[in-house]
Amino acid sequence: MEFEPVIGLEIHIQMDTKTKLFCSCPVEFGVEPNSNVCPVCLGLPGSLPVLNRRAVELAIRAGLALNCRINNRSVFARKNYFYPDLPKGYQISQYEEPLAVEGWVEVEGRRIRIRRLHVEEDAGKNLHEGSRTFVDLNRAGTPLMEIVTEPDVDSPKLAREFLEKLRNLMRYAGVSRADMEKGQLRCDINLSIRPRGSKELGTRVEIKNVNSFRFVQKAIESEMERQIKLVMSGGMVVQETRTFDPSTGLTHPMRSKEEAEDYRYFPDPDLIPLVVPKDWIEKIKENMPEMPEERFERFLKEYRLDDYSARVLTENKELGDFFEESLKVYHKEPKLNANWLLNDLLGQLSEMGKDLENSPVTPTALADLVRLIKEGVLSSKLAKEVLKEMVSTGKSPVQLVEEKGLKQLSDEDTIRGFIEEVLHENQKEVERFRSGEEKVFGFLVGQIMKKAKGKANPQLVNKLLKDILTTS
Ligand code: ADP
Ligand code: MG
Ligand code: ZN
Repeated sequence: MEFEPVIGLEIHIQMDTKTKLFCSCPVEFGVEPNSNVCPVCLGLPGSLPVLNRRAVELAIRAGLALNCRINNRSVFARKNYFYPDLPKGYQISQYEEPLAVEGWVEVEGRRIRIRRLHVEEDAGKNLHEGSRTFVDLNRAGTPLMEIVTEPDVDSPKLAREFLEKLRNLMRYAGVSRADMEKGQLRCDINLSIRPRGSKELGTRVEIKNVNSFRFVQKAIESEMERQIKLVMSGGMVVQETRTFDPSTGLTHPMRSKEEAEDYRYFPDPDLIPLVVPKDWIEKIKENMPEMPEERFERFLKEYRLDDYSARVLTENKELGDFFEESLKVYHKEPKLNANWLLNDLLGQLSEMGKDLENSPVTPTALADLVRLIKEGVLSSKLAKEVLKEMVSTGKSPVQLVEEKGLKQLSDEDTIRGFIEEVLHENQKEVERFRSGEEKVFGFLVGQIMKKAKGKANPQLVNKLLKDILTTS
């Protein structure tokens, strides 16, 4: 029997606000532990939460970016559980009435439906050191969004692509950097299997704490395999929470359904329902930053790029920004900037194990390279060599051309000299050309380029050779 996976994702994303969700403590990480705390986020008796308007605004932006319906009314609830990094004994979250519902994200031509998006506060952090544990509450009360998909994802790869798209949308919408490595985007995976073609849902397992896109894909692959083996050998999947161990590539049980906690949710009596008027949503819509789809259309029109390049450049915000930065320096040939960025720079970077974020080549340097090509100083062959050096040394193309004497030869007299020499050395070929064998022309060009050590301007070589052969 052939099985297919059914996957639903629950994603937490840190919202990029200056202050926490219910108090005015700053949101900043990497500072002295417990330096950004106050009676509210410490959960001291008598303190009262006040909702951060900016956090709601960002969550609405996210909801709009995910094509959700924004609810006019949503309610904050208490999710009760005890843990040292949660001094109140409950987390403020939204439960029965979330901020946004019924959205979708298009990935690979498919629609992954978003069931809900709600706002909640993060917990602090427990730091384990040997036999001791330290509690840092700087993160306690910082704003999160939780996004829950319908079980529409049906392959490990699609799960990964969905998350990458989600990260990208959040960056475009200005909601969050959504860096998985930094814990700004965290994902729980719900996974079951069923016979291919079946409509029923199987028993699901939840995988927690997967902290990179690659591991999401791996965790799903490995958990799928485990469930399929289990079912094929006559066993049954039990509902439980598991963790993924990147060092073995396997998932391990964490707790079973019986051990699952009962959070005893109830509406937080300290907070009135959140009411979002229509005109506020309209205003947020008007002020939305440019999203990938709009940017794609603009790139087609404004820069006359082909569909494919425009798509790739806008799928990743940083890539599109890099491209447009380079155009600020040299804008005469947007297509060249795009090609050299997509086909050459990215390739070179990945060969060196680098990426755009730590690229030694700046947008300005890329623009300069394109200018040198366009001005005929560099042939594209030489430009490739220069780019390689740019990536490994971080030097500017202008500097490298000077240092290496790489300048393309565009001096007519010098090139004529090479041509005369070559014609003299290859008289038989010249005869053949004159008697109609046109393909010999290419051979002669090759010989001339060889003599010029590859530095002669090819257009000029072609033009001069043609002139000489047809006039003498
Ligand atoms: P809970 O509220 O207990 O976390 P939900 O039913 O709300 O459970 O679902 C949480 C996530 O699990 C959603 O993303 C949903 O799409 C997914 N999910 C639900 N049932 C299944 C299933 N049988 N197989 C895979 N994913 C599932
Ligand atoms: Mg859940
Ligand atoms: Zn505080």
